[in-house]
Amino acid sequence: MRWAVAAVLALAVAAPGAAQTAEPAAKEMVAPAKGKKQPVAKKAKSEAVPAKQLFGAVKEPAPLAARSIGFYAKGCLSGAKPLAIDGPAWQAMRLSRNRNWGHPQLVRLIERLATEAKANDGWPGLLVGDMSQPRGGPMLTGHASHQIGLDADIWLTPMPNKRLTEREREDLAATSMLADKISINPQVWTPAHVRLIKRAATYPEVERVLVHPAIKKALCEAAGTDRAFLHKVRPYWGHHYHMHIRMACPKGSTNCQAQPPPPSDDGCGKELDDWFALLTKPPKPAPPDAKPPKPKPQLTLDQLPADCRVVLGAGAAAQPTATSKSGSTAAPTTKQ
Ligand SMILES: [Zn+2]
Repeated sequence: MRWAVAAVLALAVAAPGAAQTAEPAAKEMVAPAKGKKQPVAKKAKSEAVPAKQLFGAVKEPAPLAARSIGFYAKGCLSGAKPLAIDGPAWQAMRLSRNRNWGHPQLVRLIERLATEAKANDGWPGLLVGDMSQPRGGPMLTGHASHQIGLDADIWLTPMPNKRLTEREREDLAATSMLADKISINPQVWTPAHVRLIKRAATYPEVERVLVHPAIKKALCEAAGTDRAFLHKVRPYWGHHYHMHIRMACPKGSTNCQAQPPPPSDDGCGKELDDWFALLTKPPKPAPPDAKPPKPKPQLTLDQLPADCRVVLGAGAAAQPTATSKSGSTAAPTTKQ
């Protein structure tokens, strides 16, 4: 039942276009930096079950040291902390999903962004969408990333001046910043949005802030001479209801796989032109003999870093399906 509800809610806020894959952008979400390979868990036949079912079923964090393990779109999280559902300058949304978990540094970052934006930017408070599951990992619905506790979706809807009920946090719809598929809506887009996104991108521990290309364009136009933050604001499909904040691998997470740093130029020129060309390109008609696209194979536990098996099995919340003959019960590596 719970999953059915979660699935419906995920559809309700899924950004149109989010499923598209486009060449200039695909690497934004999914490409790790070249070089460091992660050891993967040993293959066991009993584990063909998709990892999202295993990680999606766990309700509590792994009682281990805080570590982001693997890559943003292929990994897990130990020692997660929850973001409080209410704070002095934020409210967590969609509580039924149980995705208000992150690396402790991500939790601190959101708390700081919320309070500083409220104090300085004329932003009344954050509505915080999905972070990670209690042990990270792939999710039953939505996101390819958000797996290692370093990603957070922050709504671009200002926080209402009241404490939302649990029901309201499920039902309230996020506001799109777009008037059409390539332009910002001046009725909803404000200078406070610019200040909020700029603040998020200015924190040194934030490596990227993903927004829709039309939002990036609006930021390019509003930035004036202070353009240093713009290179971290990366255009991407969807992301017109929320911005997606991505932290760099924290110190101490030795098995965290970094993403290449964003290009150093402000990205307001050719890159953005390419995006708009892509957004306005008419869809190609499929050839008459086209086969339906193959469904993407699901990540299994044996494809995640080996330590994710330990994360999944740690503590009282151990999942019987997560352990096997080859499953490790040893203590996780505690290199910090
Ligand atoms: Zn996101």
